[in-house]
Parts: sequence; structure tokens; C-alpha cells
Amino acid sequence: MSEDLVIDLHSHSCYSDGTLTPTELVERAAAAGVGVLALTDHDTVAGLEEAEQAAARLGLRLVPGVELSASWRSQAIHVLGLWIEPRAPKFLERLDSQAERRHVRMRKICARLTQAGLPGDELLAAVLAQPGLPTRAHLAEALVAGGHVARTDDAFRRYLGKGRAAHLAADWPPLAEIVGWIREAGGVACLAHPARYALSSGARRQLLTEFAAAGGTAIEVVTGPNGASHVEASAMLAVKHGFSGSSGSDFHSPKHTWNPLGRLAKLPDSVVPVWRVYGL
Ligand code: AMP
Ligand code: MN
Ligand code: MN
Ligand code: MN
Repeated sequence: MSEDLVIDLHSHSCYSDGTLTPTELVERAAAAGVGVLALTDHDTVAGLEEAEQAAARLGLRLVPGVELSASWRSQAIHVLGLWIEPRAPKFLERLDSQAERRHVRMRKICARLTQAGLPGDELLAAVLAQPGLPTRAHLAEALVAGGHVARTDDAFRRYLGKGRAAHLAADWPPLAEIVGWIREAGGVACLAHPARYALSSGARRQLLTEFAAAGGTAIEVVTGPNGASHVEASAMLAVKHGFSGSSGSDFHSPKHTWNPLGRLAKLPDSVVPVWRVYGL
């Protein structure tokens, strides 16, 4: 890989909880010097075609991706599917089931908010008025827009986060099944932001062992929001478990100044880059 090729393998568009259209996202990535970008919307590939067109126009290499929601010990775990075949009919069927789960879950969460004295029906309507698959990020924005909390962070702290009134235990398909979907679609299963889950180090080791046994082959070693302090720890985990390493900003919006597109720490030399087998 050329030393100055900027690779960012984790980003969102308005087809999930990002604020930019796929075209705007790709244009912004190109302007930021990104040469290889993965669009990895939560549980949908609906933005990939538009992103591919924009990428072809701008000479940027687009990696077809997705960020799938999985359950492991009642926790939500995110698995990136990179270099997937997004048009595989079976895979699209599976994504339809994820979309349905997201709608059912959002209705349940809003019902909880109603019980907590908030206008759950109005909040649900605001979330569903967004173009993307419903996520808690949309709901947090609706809580801000409705004047119920000052910031999206507060929405998670007061209502949506673990231990709060509107928090639901994860009800996604099991981790091993989700990894199977990605492999079946020809993709690389990469555990997203491994340091962000609230797990003891023993449980994290167990998670990684089960992820590998299911066919997961990579973990995100460099992630935008977690910053440099987690890189070394994640690199050690990758080496220890035999995973290759990925790097991605998890960009959602230009308003989020902490994880811009393409501004990523270098992947440590100890880690085999997940893109190496793709000739990058
Ligand atoms: P969901 O997949 O519906 O549970 O929504 C999760 C999304 O909400 C994540 O991908 C983030 O974009 C966002 N999110 C999660 N936790 C927080 C938080 N504490 N503050 C702000 N946004 C968050
Ligand atoms: Mn998100
Ligand atoms: Mn995630
Ligand atoms: Mn993400």
C-alpha cells in the first residue's frame, strides 16, 4: 500500500443515522483526502449504489460495507461486514429482517418513553419521518428537538442508555449468526470498536474467542471516537487472537467534530491490515 493512501473503513449516511447523503459523504471523504472509504450503515446497504456512483465519479475506491447489530450475552455488538456482495438476494432478505426488528424495537422504546411521561407517539413519528432505518441516534435527536433534553448525550444518559427507563436488552440475532450472514455474502466480518463495549477483560476475551470461532477474522484497531489510547490495547488483542486490523472513523455527521472522515491514527506495524489481502 502506498504510504499516503488514506483508508477509512467505517462511515454512515442518511440511510442509517448519518446526516449526509451517500453522495455528500463520498464528496466530503474525497475532499478530506480519503482514497478508500467503506460505507457501513447500520443494518442496511440502501446507500451503497449511490455511494458507488459518486465514488466512481471522484476516483475514490468504495468498499461495500454494512454495520450489523448482533446480540451477545444480552449486549448489542456491532459487526462490520466489509467487501460484502450487497446484492445477494439471501443477504437482502436478512437485512429486511433486521429492518423489521429495528421498527419493532423503536416502537417498544417509544412506548417505554410514554410510560416515563414523555410524548412517545410524537417521538416515534419524528423518528419515522427520517429517511434512514430507525436508530436510537434518531430518537436522541428527536428528544433534543422536542426540548426534552439539551443534548443527545443526555438522551442516552437519562432515557436510552443501559439501566435507564427506555433501555431494552439487545434482541438482535446471535453474534455467530450475524458473522455467518457476512461470510455467506462474501464479506470479511470485523468486530467494530472492540473497546466500546462494557465488558470485563475476561468477557472481552471470551467475546473475541467466540467471534473467531464463528468465522470473524478482523477487529477494528483504530476507531475515530476512541482515539489513540485504545489503539495499542486493541492491537495487542488483534495479535493475540490472530485477527487482522481495521481502521475507521465511524463518521456520522460534520457536526461531530471528534471523528472526522479520514483522520485516523496509523495502524500499528504489529497488526496485519485487513485491506492487505485486497491489494491495498
Ligand atoms: P442503535 O443501533 O439503534 O442502538 O443506535 C446506536 C447508535 O446511537 C450508535 O451507532 C451511535 O450512533 C449512537 N449512540 C450510541 N450511544 C450514544 C451516546 N451515548 N451518545 C450519542 N450517541 C450515541
Ligand atoms: Mn450510529
Ligand atoms: Mn457501532
Ligand atoms: Mn458505526
